[in-house]
Amino acid sequence: MDLRHAQMIQSRLVPPPQKFTMPDLAVWKITEDSKVRLLCPEPETAALAEAFFRTICSATPTVQTEPKSCNLPEEGYRLDITQNLCTIEANTAQAVRYALHTIRQLMESERGVLTSTRQQVPCVSIEDYPAMSFRGVHLCWFPETPVWEIERQIRLAAYYKFNYIVMESWGVLKLDRHPEFCWDEYAVEKSEFKRLIQLGKDLGIRLVPQLNIFGHATCARVGTGKHLLLDQHPEYAPLFEPDGWTWCVSNPATRQYLQEIVEELLDLYNEPPYFHIGCDEAYTPESCTLCMGSYLEKLASHITFFHDLLAKHHCKTLMWHDMLLAREDPRWEGYIACGSKKDGHDTLHTCLPKSLILCDWQYHYPEKDGKEPHWPTGTYLKELGFPVIVCPWDDPRGGWSLGKFAVREKMDGYLQTVWHHGQRSHIMTAIFVQGAHGAWSPETDTQTISWVSLNHHLRQLSHDMGLKEYRQFGSVQYQVDPAPYQD
Ligand SMILES: [Zn+2]
Repeated sequence: MDLRHAQMIQSRLVPPPQKFTMPDLAVWKITEDSKVRLLCPEPETAALAEAFFRTICSATPTVQTEPKSCNLPEEGYRLDITQNLCTIEANTAQAVRYALHTIRQLMESERGVLTSTRQQVPCVSIEDYPAMSFRGVHLCWFPETPVWEIERQIRLAAYYKFNYIVMESWGVLKLDRHPEFCWDEYAVEKSEFKRLIQLGKDLGIRLVPQLNIFGHATCARVGTGKHLLLDQHPEYAPLFEPDGWTWCVSNPATRQYLQEIVEELLDLYNEPPYFHIGCDEAYTPESCTLCMGSYLEKLASHITFFHDLLAKHHCKTLMWHDMLLAREDPRWEGYIACGSKKDGHDTLHTCLPKSLILCDWQYHYPEKDGKEPHWPTGTYLKELGFPVIVCPWDDPRGGWSLGKFAVREKMDGYLQTVWHHGQRSHIMTAIFVQGAHGAWSPETDTQTISWVSLNHHLRQLSHDMGLKEYRQFGSVQYQVDPAPYQD
């Protein structure tokens, strides 16, 4: 067996599996006469496998189930494919889904003919399981994002074995209680969100909401100067610091307003296990006359109020980390820290509940003398007693390195951020392909042929959705930028 051939077949898989072997170049042809042996204690997984082969492979092989558990973690699976039999071992429906995703990524069409919808799979043995249990993608739904695009990103995240999506609406979700908190001409009805939340459930990925309760109060990128609420409704100015970027945490009306939105989101997302309260990049705190003086107590009380409100709903609070670290502190040189020592933000942590889960976003790759970054912010926040989730962005080295760091230092998960780069082809590769590697199997060093793999997978997902238009295929909507665009 030529090692190059095995590597080529293995490189089809995103994320790379933990253990992969391929004895020869034989294939399993998926036909009506094929056999699948499914060993799983959950009997309903047979229907999952049958539906997969029917819809994806246009064939209905016999799926023979045996209610047996195996010595694998909850989301782990074993796949053994020979010319005559495909055997899947797993303990849960989620693990069976992951095995089926792997089969789909390995598949190729019947070879040597003009056209065919039949599929075949190289004979391989795989044992696979995630390196950590929280593997999220943070998705931003901008007014410019079409529904199909966000849906395809949800499908892609599920296909790449992430299990959570933190969904941040940038002014598109039309709420009942506060319909003014939305761009009228880009409003998306709650029923559309409900459809996607259910789709996520069916695909094995849980959608959870985000609402910024401190900085980023504009629900728009700072470089654009837009403000979701004040551009359309200037009378709501008392809810914000005078420049509008940060919520005014001293105004009781702000707390009431945000609480009403939080409660509506909890209901919409079916009492989610997590809720992200943002809190990054609050550039202008304590800038109104009401906020001036004893600000840290006011801010801590504001954050704690929402943490406690969510805890009553059995919901854990996720929060960006950066306002807890002083940017002047030499320990964080090269790393992200946005708080100020002078304003006491570096001691804010002493007044906050330790069950807040801090999302440590580190978007650079601050190597020193060619050495991998050591990510000291995560270690420090963990030592303070908080659970910490590592959050890379668009540097492909960062995702993999942070994934390895998270496993080594026993961090609490991985949250891949996307921001406004969900439609940039080479950056999407860093975000989704390298991100999946960082979250699932960072300790494997398999090379994935990432760009073309991503294109192939996006084509599969566009077909699943029945998409037909030019801009709905590929990793970008247009090959040539059709409009001036803020970079
Ligand atoms: Zn204020």
